[in-house]
Amino acid sequence: MKSEYDVIVVGAGPGGSIAARTAAEHGLDVLLIEKRQEIGDPVRCAEGTGKLGLSKFIEPDPRWICAEVTGARIFAPDGTCVELSEKLAGKEVGYVLERKIFDRALAKTAAKAGAEVQVKTQATSLLKENGNVCGIRGKYRGDDFEARAKVVVGADGIESRVGKWAGINTTIKPKDIETCAQFLVTDIDIKADSCDFYMGNERAPGGYVWIFPKGKREANVGLGILGNRFSGKHPIDYLHDFMAWKFPDGKIIETVVGAVPASGMLKQLSTGGLVLVGDAGRVSDPITGGGIYNAMASGRIAGNVIADAIKANDVSAKKLIRYDREVGEELGKQLDRNYKTKEFVVKAEDSLMNSVARSLQGVNFEEMSVAKLLREIITRNPAMFLELAGLF
Ligand SMILES: Cc1cc2nc3c(=O)[nH]c(=O)nc-3n(C[C@H](O)[C@H](O)[C@H](O)COP(=O)(O)OP(=O)(O)OC[C@H]3O[C@@H](n4cnc5c(N)ncnc54)[C@H](O)[C@@H]3O)c2cc1C
Repeated sequence: MKSEYDVIVVGAGPGGSIAARTAAEHGLDVLLIEKRQEIGDPVRCAEGTGKLGLSKFIEPDPRWICAEVTGARIFAPDGTCVELSEKLAGKEVGYVLERKIFDRALAKTAAKAGAEVQVKTQATSLLKENGNVCGIRGKYRGDDFEARAKVVVGADGIESRVGKWAGINTTIKPKDIETCAQFLVTDIDIKADSCDFYMGNERAPGGYVWIFPKGKREANVGLGILGNRFSGKHPIDYLHDFMAWKFPDGKIIETVVGAVPASGMLKQLSTGGLVLVGDAGRVSDPITGGGIYNAMASGRIAGNVIADAIKANDVSAKKLIRYDREVGEELGKQLDRNYKTKEFVVKAEDSLMNSVARSLQGVNFEEMSVAKLLREIITRNPAMFLELAGLF
């Protein structure tokens, strides 16, 4: 490892790898560091993502695609099922990945583009000069080190410290965080080409249960509950209850716990010498919890903006604010709408979810988008007009 780079990326998840790759493709000298000894492991994800979005970043490869899904089913608390086509579910379904392999494949593309990749290397604080970030302090195989960089990318996920070290307010309120538990369950009867969601305040208060297939008889079965709905019963307890009801004979071969920001993106994503990508910038989708695509999208914008800033020899806060603007242009509208939708959904009583699901029976969703789904809900439930109309 050298003592000076153009760019240091902290965290080798999807956001960090794409940021590192993009910056390296611009000819910059890039270091990508990952605190764990294996990129992508342990997994903290249900691994579902959209085909179209993914193909913008990497050629699909059967080695990291576990299942292809053509649609989704949403079950209301009383069991009423709303079936969506792939077109409608869009970004949320398409592939169920094997992220242990996928995250490594992305990091390899960064390495191939010229980035230096170091695992077991943890950033512990930032170097600053004249108020701007100019590098990191860290631990490299147990030894302390310092490395300078023109720009540092904080791609350190939900538990991000980098933003805070730079003075950015990254705090998420309990009402804006989903705490999750997930099992990889094998030997179960599932619909192997569908991502299924179960709603209900008894099952997952302020969240939902998901079943994402990873093969013909295997699936990620998990749930998230909203931080402010915690009442002493943990997500894993809710999950055991769901398992007992739905898959009493399922065999659990892996357990995952983690959290997803459901806050919408931070008001500030950059400062002098620093940008935040992916979950570190809270750009994951507040309603679905999906963050893989948005992490990669923000990573690419970061790489491009940083390259221009370094070429112009200006990595000031004023210059890098273009990153905030471009992320806002690409993701902001959808994040805002889905945040407001989340605020509405988390307050819904089970009876309302049941009646909305019933009102949607017989609708042909194949030709609809998510926005049209909301419009369809309003058309069929005029009483909800005032609450939902503002989402468009
Ligand atoms: C239970 C669960 C289910 C989910 N399901 C889905 C889903 O189905 N689809 C979807 O799109 N999204 C899903 N998500 C969200 C998705 O996992 C994240 O949005 C996505 O991984 C964000 O990517 P990232 O690159 O920003 O961060 P991460 O993937 O979290 O990567 C951050 C990396 O930074 C490393 N790191 C942290 N601190 C340091 C440090 N100081 N020094 C060096 N390295 C550091 C971490 O070890 C980690 O590898 C789920 C999340 C959870 C918790």
